[in-house]
Amino acid sequence: MEYLNQTGKPARFQFASDNYAGICPEAWQSMDEANRGYASSYGDDPWTARACEKLRELFETDCEVFFVFNGTAANSLALAALCKSYHSIICHEMAHVETDECGASEFFSNGTKVLLVPGNDGKIDLSAVEHTIKRRTDIHYPKPRALSITQSTELGTVYSAAELQAIGDFARQYGLRVHMDGSRFANAVASLGVAPKELTWKAGVDVLCFGGTKNGMAVGEAVVFFNRELANEFDYRCKQAGQLASKMRFLAAPWIGMLENGAWLRNASHANNCARQLADGLKGIPGITLAHPCQANAVFLELSPPIAEGLHSRGWHFYSFIGTGGARLMCSWETRTEDVEAFVSDARELAQN
Ligand SMILES: *Cc1c(COP(=O)(O)O)cnc(C)c1O
Repeated sequence: MEYLNQTGKPARFQFASDNYAGICPEAWQSMDEANRGYASSYGDDPWTARACEKLRELFETDCEVFFVFNGTAANSLALAALCKSYHSIICHEMAHVETDECGASEFFSNGTKVLLVPGNDGKIDLSAVEHTIKRRTDIHYPKPRALSITQSTELGTVYSAAELQAIGDFARQYGLRVHMDGSRFANAVASLGVAPKELTWKAGVDVLCFGGTKNGMAVGEAVVFFNRELANEFDYRCKQAGQLASKMRFLAAPWIGMLENGAWLRNASHANNCARQLADGLKGIPGITLAHPCQANAVFLELSPPIAEGLHSRGWHFYSFIGTGGARLMCSWETRTEDVEAFVSDARELAQN
């Protein structure tokens, strides 16, 4: 199906964001199976129980699982569970929690302050975190309590298992709890090829917000508490925030389909491979440089203005919000090789003009 953009040209949305993609067949089929008749509401149904069980199997531990509608809710409610209102949350200055959630973390935690640290390629710099913790220890400063990291990061990079271990050790040393925004956690697992537990609880992550939407579901993220104590009364938080789905089975069921036959990892690997192919294809084209290492499903580019304009006028839709001329191309489970090739060939033609 062809969509037109405002100027009447074909809109080529393929690399705008991974949430431009549709619902993958595995998630769709599970929804369909859950749609045959009556079931108890508010999560008291067999699909929700099974989806939680599947997640426990995946992480090889007895974690507490909650399903919410979106990532903003997952992150902000999880962070609120980690902090009191006079605490602070430390995260990267490019973190979604800070830049794209409209202050939800502060809102749902009743004012917990978010403190920002820099770091290359979207990863927090632990020495900057240490400085943020140590620069003040008096009562007038919001007490650091949570460290929030994003895996894979907002800039398409991933923290290695060793880096996560170092972050976990650091957090324990300073009494910080660790939150992981895993909106693209599957892409990180696919990229690193290690067991999910190595990137989470074994490295000291207390709570993971595991993304389903960007990996092929219609809607829904799983909030996975490895530290079960922190999940105490989390169900009430979800309900109060309007995140307790009455037809919960439709948030839960897609996880069953995605986890049972490996689609969650297949989708993520596919998206990562497409991004790699795109980055490789664009390499060496004059006027195009890779802005960050391509380690997951995003490609960040510095484009010369004529190339950027040319691509837009040929209908390619992608976000340009980082640096001057910066462009972000996201791949998804639905990205097609033809689209990657067409984009590369358009970029190459424009570079020759
Ligand atoms: C997309 C995204 C989320 C979730 O966003 P919602 O629109 O609230 O579902 C969270 N973190 C990161 C890094 C994201 O890219």
